[in-house]
Amino acid sequence: MLVISCIKQVPDTTQVKIDPVTNTLVREGIPFIVNPYDTHALEEGLALKDRYGLRSVALSMGPPNTVATLKKACALGVDEAILLSDRAFGGADTLATSQVLAAAIERLAEKDEVGIVFCGKQTIDGDTAQVGPGIATRLGFTQLTLVDRIEWLDLNKKRIRVRRKLEGRHEIVEAPLPVVITAVRELNRPRYPTVPMRLTAELTEVTVWDNQVLKLDVETVGLKGSATWVSKIFSPERDQGEIIGDGIGDPVGTAHLLLEKMLSKDLLAI
Ligand SMILES: Cc1cc2nc3c(=O)[nH]c(=O)nc-3n(C[C@H](O)[C@H](O)[C@H](O)COP(=O)(O)OP(=O)(O)OC[C@H]3O[C@@H](n4cnc5c(N)ncnc54)[C@H](O)[C@@H]3O)c2cc1C
Repeated sequence: MLVISCIKQVPDTTQVKIDPVTNTLVREGIPFIVNPYDTHALEEGLALKDRYGLRSVALSMGPPNTVATLKKACALGVDEAILLSDRAFGGADTLATSQVLAAAIERLAEKDEVGIVFCGKQTIDGDTAQVGPGIATRLGFTQLTLVDRIEWLDLNKKRIRVRRKLEGRHEIVEAPLPVVITAVRELNRPRYPTVPMRLTAELTEVTVWDNQVLKLDVETVGLKGSATWVSKIFSPERDQGEIIGDGIGDPVGTAHLLLEKMLSKDLLAI
């Protein structure tokens, strides 16, 4: 049985620049990381592989340089890493992204039964949290979002029980496999690869599937298949207040400046 972890390569958010004309990300010179929630999706897939002998697959849609992200998954021990990359997939919104990911999962299911698909709760760049549910809907899988614990997995009965982290409460849910699970940070503590694991990963091949493989209607993927587009990106106007110091560059100095300011205005008086 397969456990698939969907991982997205995202820009390191502190460094993001937006092209003011096209409203798209300026990719040149930006370091990329695995979306933090997806490291938990990956870890749980590997934990289920270790515990139940499931075959683990890491899946990502993105430009060719996404191979680097998938190599990180290889270093951690996934059995297979697959990149979905084609010019036709570019410029995808969540609708078109989940369409391509679901098609790849269907293709994997032709050879081996898919039990669980893990996604992160959301990404740190798009932040929509729509892709996991979008995949589940397309595949007709049960969706278990915001999961912070796998209570048990019964491979004979093909059932799973999870705990969902909701606002101020938890919910225990049981469902038949196959399921799509979206992971929150509390689900696990991601492992780190050792140097030998990293070196082995460098020799591991990442499989690349383009649209010749997936054979999707090009009208339903990428920019053409996207139902939404970004018309404007902006920071809200700040109508009052004053920025004091450089909190990121000099947090200690900034704290002193803030304290002085508050003392001078008698804001700390009891
Ligand atoms: C009009 C438009 C154009 C866009 N163009 C681009 C573009 O050219 N390049 C680009 O990178 N982004 C682009 N995006 C954003 C990109 O399509 C979204 O990041 C993507 O649809 C996922 O949405 P999200 O980041 O909000 O994911 P969320 O729904 O927040 O992600 C939830 C989870 O889904 C999984 N997931 C999401 N995306 C992927 C992926 N690509 N591969 C594997 N797993 C994934 C991860 O597990 C993730 O944690 C565009 C968005 C719009 C609206």
